[in-house]
Amino acid sequence: MKAKDWVSDLRVYEPGKPIEEVARELGFDDITEIVKVASNENELGPSPLAVEAMKEAIPEMHRYPDGGAFYLKKKLAEKLGVETNQLLFGCGSNELIVFLCHVFMGPGKNLIMGAEAFAVYFLACAMYEGETVRVPMPGHAHDLDAMLAAITPETRLVCICNPNNPTGTMVTPAAIDSFIAKLPEHVVAVFDEAYFELMPDHMKPDVLKHIRAGEKNIILLRTFSKAYGLAGLRIGYAVGHPELIQLLNKVRQPFNVNLMAQRAAMAALDDVTHLVETREMVFKGLEFFEQKLPSIGVEAVPSGANFILCKTGNGRKVFEALQKRKVIVRPMDPYGLPDHIRITIGTPEQNRIVFDALKEVLP
Ligand SMILES: *Cc1c(COP(=O)(O)O)cnc(C)c1O
Repeated sequence: MKAKDWVSDLRVYEPGKPIEEVARELGFDDITEIVKVASNENELGPSPLAVEAMKEAIPEMHRYPDGGAFYLKKKLAEKLGVETNQLLFGCGSNELIVFLCHVFMGPGKNLIMGAEAFAVYFLACAMYEGETVRVPMPGHAHDLDAMLAAITPETRLVCICNPNNPTGTMVTPAAIDSFIAKLPEHVVAVFDEAYFELMPDHMKPDVLKHIRAGEKNIILLRTFSKAYGLAGLRIGYAVGHPELIQLLNKVRQPFNVNLMAQRAAMAALDDVTHLVETREMVFKGLEFFEQKLPSIGVEAVPSGANFILCKTGNGRKVFEALQKRKVIVRPMDPYGLPDHIRITIGTPEQNRIVFDALKEVLP
């Protein structure tokens, strides 16, 4: 075999393992005892309205999905106050990141991202032979001025995860507005708002107003994986100028978003109760950890999402010790944070279990 160098040299993304796999590896019989807080999933589960819609869709599964996601697009466009030609759906917002790199990256071109930001950007960029420029994040937060300063004539994408995964840090709405005003025309800014629905209201940015105003070089990414609790279905979306959306659409497979996902997403958009309950669970859980962690000597980074980055010392070792106690978190050494773990906020009971286990394993 003679694979292309940039493919064989790619580092493989280390996802949170499925519960079943951890149980098998550690010889646990009862997987219901395992608390998995490693992938920022919604521990309330999917929206009940989405579950109902999926059941109703089962008899239609011999059909291909609507490749243009007509009804979902119409519904979401109304909700966001944009036109339907400003939306594109992906098999998770991860797929949209790949589309962006497919369209914009190549040899000699670069993508700018935060040094402690979502690893998929780096991987997707490498897949298309682009170079990644990693900008330091003082206090674990994106430094938008430094990102602007890093732009070169070869830069095509500048990516800002807000809140950022895995640090949970946010940039202020004012900082975003001033960043957009200074953005050079040859660059597209990607605002990844995977946790938008879970942000505290006063920190929610209004990137959409720039898109509605016709700004061409901005794209907004959101997902049904986090607040809506539909990570297993794989559906996310991009919002942008029709010309930019059309470019991304050119590299999309015709049926990239399945029928079940389209139906569930439509129903989830109507489920206000589930969203309110999810936000409440996350706010309370964050408060719990922010209050309790200092008592065991753990520093936590203030978070605007459903997870919290914790400085425990030797994150890999803490991760392994927690796993033996049937608690799965995420070690952060792949992000250059060897002293940290990331904990997803769960139900009050899960949070208590995680905290107690952490207390036991720390020296
Ligand atoms: C979880 C996450 C995503 C979304 O992934 P999906 O493919 O939609 O499940 C995107 N960006 C960030 C920063 C995330 O944390």
